[in-house]
Amino acid sequence: MAKVMILGGGFGGLAAAHELRGRLGPEHEVTLLAADDRFFVGYAKLWDLVGTRSLVQGTGRLSALDERGIRFVHAQVTAIDPDRRAVETSAGSFDADYMVVALGAAADRRKLGSAERGAHDLYDPDRLPAMRAELGSLHDGRVVVGVLGVPYVCPPAPYEAAFLVEEFLRRQGVRERVEVVITTPMPSPLPVAGPAVDELVAHGLAGQGIDLRTGLQIAEVDTDAKVLSFADGATMDYALLLGIPQAAPPAVIADSPLAGEDGWIWPDPETGRTGFDGVYAVGDCTAVENLPRAGVFAEALGKVAGANIASEIGAGPGGRYDGVGFCFLEFNGRRAAALEGDFFAKPKPDVRLAEPNAETYARKEAFEAERLQAWLGISRSGPTA
Ligand SMILES: Cc1cc2nc3c(=O)[nH]c(=O)nc-3n(C[C@H](O)[C@H](O)[C@H](O)COP(=O)(O)OP(=O)(O)OC[C@H]3O[C@@H](n4cnc5c(N)ncnc54)[C@H](O)[C@@H]3O)c2cc1C
Repeated sequence: MAKVMILGGGFGGLAAAHELRGRLGPEHEVTLLAADDRFFVGYAKLWDLVGTRSLVQGTGRLSALDERGIRFVHAQVTAIDPDRRAVETSAGSFDADYMVVALGAAADRRKLGSAERGAHDLYDPDRLPAMRAELGSLHDGRVVVGVLGVPYVCPPAPYEAAFLVEEFLRRQGVRERVEVVITTPMPSPLPVAGPAVDELVAHGLAGQGIDLRTGLQIAEVDTDAKVLSFADGATMDYALLLGIPQAAPPAVIADSPLAGEDGWIWPDPETGRTGFDGVYAVGDCTAVENLPRAGVFAEALGKVAGANIASEIGAGPGGRYDGVGFCFLEFNGRRAAALEGDFFAKPKPDVRLAEPNAETYARKEAFEAERLQAWLGISRSGPTA
C-alpha cells in the first residue's frame, strides 16, 4: 500500500488528487490537506464584486472529497520536511511515500496597510462584502485597479476587473462621474503574450473609456489621504483602490528546503518533479519561466504529477506537460476571449488572443461548472443560468 499526501486543495491539488484516485486501487491512500475548506474559481470573485452572482453559489466544500475516496484534512501546514515527505500541521504530523506540494501563492498586501475601507486586496474573498458595498455607493471620483507589484496571479485579471467594474458603474448610472483607471508596473498589458495581444486589450479598454497607465510602480498607498505615490514621483488620488497583490511564496515553502533562492519552488516544468525523491510541486507556489500563475496550468501539471506518482507506484504510464494552455480574459457585455497557445515555445511563448465573444464566455462558465462537478460533485452553472 502506498500513501500519497497532497498539500493544497486548489486547482493543482484537486487535479492531482483526482488523477491519483482514478488511477490507484483502493488499497492506496490519497490524503489532501488544506487550510481553507472552500474551493471556487478565481474569477467567481469578480462576478460577486459586480453583482453577477454571489461567491457562495460558486463555492464547493472540500469535505465532499471524503465521499470520493480522498481523505480531506482541514489543517494549516506549518512545516515541510521534503526529505522525509513529512509535514507539521495544526492537526498534527503527517507523512507519506509521495507528496504533491500545491499550496498556491501568498498575497503580499503590505502596501495596503491595515485600512478597512477605501483600499482593498481585490483577490481577498473576505473583503468582497466591503468592496461591493463601497463600489455600489460610489457617485464620483476615481476607481483604481492597481497592480501592487509583479509577479501577480492571473495576468489578465486586472483587465477583467476593470471591464466589469466599468460596466457596473454604467448600470448604476454614475459612470460619467467615476473614472476607471488601471495602473501596472509592466510596460504593456500582457508582455508575455506579445504586441498583438497588448493591442487588442488596450483597444478594448480604450473603447470603454478605461484609462490604462503602464510602467507605473505603486511605491506607497496613503490610505488616510487616499493617494497613491508612484516610484517615478507621480501621485494619483482615488475614491476606491482595488489592489492586485504581488504574489509571494508562502512562508511555509520559503522556509523549507524545497525553496530556491527566491523562495519559490522550481520543479521540472514538464513533470512537476522536485529534487527530492517522491516530492512533486505544481501551480502558483512554483516558478516556471514564461508560465503565468493561473489555474489551468496548476491543473495541467497537477494531473501530470498525479500520473507520474501513479506510474511510480506501478499504475500505468506517467506523463509530461507540453506547455499548451489558455487563460480567459472577460470583457464587458458577457463576452470573453482566451489567451491560448504554447507557453513553453522558445524563444518566447507562442500565444494568441482571439476577439472576445459570447461563445468564449459560455466556455468560461462551463469551465467552472465542469470542475465543481468533477472534483466536488456539485451541479452548478454559470451566472447566466
Ligand atoms: C480574479 C481572478 C481571476 C482568475 N481567473 C482565472 C482564469 O480565468 N483562469 C485560470 O486558469 N486562472 C485564473 N485565476 C488564477 C487561479 O485562481 C490561480 O492561478 C489558481 O487558483 C492556482 O491554483 P493552485 O492550486 O496553484 O493554488 P490555489 O488555488 O491558490 O490553492 C492553494 C491551496 O493551498 C491551501 N493552502 C495554502 N497555504 C496553506 C497552508 N499553509 N496549509 C494548508 N493549506 C494551505 C489553500 O487553502 C488552497 O486550498 C484567477 C485568479 C483570480 C484572483
